[in-house]
Amino acid sequence: MLNGTTAEHVERKALRINPAKTCQPIGAMYAALGIHACMPHSHGSQGCCSYHRSHLTRHFKEPVMATTSSFTEGSSVFGGLANLTMALRNIFTIYDPEIVAVHTTCLSEVIGDDIPTIVGKSREEGGVPAGKYVIHANTPSFVGSHVYGYSNMIVSMVSYLAEKTGTTKNQVNIIPSFIEPADMREIKRMAALTGVPTVMFPDTSNVLDGPLTGKYQMYPTGGATVAQIKSSGDSIATLALGHFGAHNAAISLETKCNVPASLMELPIGVGATDRFINTLRTLGGGEVSAELELERGRLVDLMSDLHQYFHGKRVAVSGDPDMVIALTQFLVELEMKPVYVITGSPGNTFEKRIHEILDPVVPDAKIKQCSDLFELHQWIKKEPVDLLITNTYGKSMARADNIPFVRFGFPILDRAGHRFYSTMGYAGAVRLIDQMLNAILDHKDRTCAEEWFELVQ
Ligand code: SF4
Repeated sequence: MLNGTTAEHVERKALRINPAKTCQPIGAMYAALGIHACMPHSHGSQGCCSYHRSHLTRHFKEPVMATTSSFTEGSSVFGGLANLTMALRNIFTIYDPEIVAVHTTCLSEVIGDDIPTIVGKSREEGGVPAGKYVIHANTPSFVGSHVYGYSNMIVSMVSYLAEKTGTTKNQVNIIPSFIEPADMREIKRMAALTGVPTVMFPDTSNVLDGPLTGKYQMYPTGGATVAQIKSSGDSIATLALGHFGAHNAAISLETKCNVPASLMELPIGVGATDRFINTLRTLGGGEVSAELELERGRLVDLMSDLHQYFHGKRVAVSGDPDMVIALTQFLVELEMKPVYVITGSPGNTFEKRIHEILDPVVPDAKIKQCSDLFELHQWIKKEPVDLLITNTYGKSMARADNIPFVRFGFPILDRAGHRFYSTMGYAGAVRLIDQMLNAILDHKDRTCAEEWFELVQ
């Protein structure tokens, strides 16, 4: 596959080939699943909702529930008021969630449905029972990406739910960017080791990586509760982890409830994890536990032991902007050379941050937002790399050009372990090193000359 990709590169503006992003509602649906007892609702046609659910299901290997307004030709012409009103009544009657999180699709955005007005009317008519919540986010897919949809839904959690009661709670809010359930669990574990009480939202751990119990639970035990999200307005500070997925919500919370926002990046690798722990401990009055020090020491030891395998290796990276920014910093810590770094999401912050990281060490790196995997492949065809790190969609080019390949980010559709093994923190960095080293050495074992084929590496 993709053997026909040529090295002859043409600058394109109006065409994406093999995109490195997906549509906004997928991110909004994922964020909504991080609220306990929440039903994500897709206001549009059934096809959109089916695609979004199945894409998440293929990545997490878990059934993803969501409801839809089921637009037909009539709603496309006259608007979705009747559909959403009936949908809300049915959802609360049949599935009894505590909260419904409505997101729009391209169609309802083009129609211009006024969701707050429709929800208000439903509430007046008794379609939304007393004590239940409905929040909404506008998620037009003709702009942004799934990371923007994720961010928009968290901003909505803040604007609809967060409250300032006047009594400050001794807790720090953590808002993560679009990351795995295992990553959210790892960030909470590290936070607990500092002794700082935290509230994380959204939180998909124990929702999309729950155990098989033999009993179906429509609403798994995980997720941030509505009460926890409400209480975020009384917290002493907010730590937002990711420019694209998390910062907007923290700024909204600061504006609405005067909770100071610390805007950081995802804790991947040594430096970023150090900064995360240090900031959290400073904000919440915690300590660096002996366990965290041990984990850090093990990582640094491993980096030093394996230095010869990573030094100077040329790497191509693609993925969601917050993940790629954090990973690129870690690759530089390993003295690797990220020569091609792209994201499909728009946003100048991506190129600015990657330039800040790479200009001192890889000044000729190609860095691009709104790019696609075809373009990345063309660059690789022209000047090859030693390692490719992307989501599952990179496997075609890895196969075409026999490149060592590590799956990273969203979506991973052809492997299963990603939702259980975090890449955050010191322990997550150990896992990343393991994956990258295995890919490089497996490739060497497959392709090296007989005299270089070694039992011991
Ligand atoms: S129509 Fe829009 S929201 Fe629906 S699947 Fe396509 S891009 Fe996504």
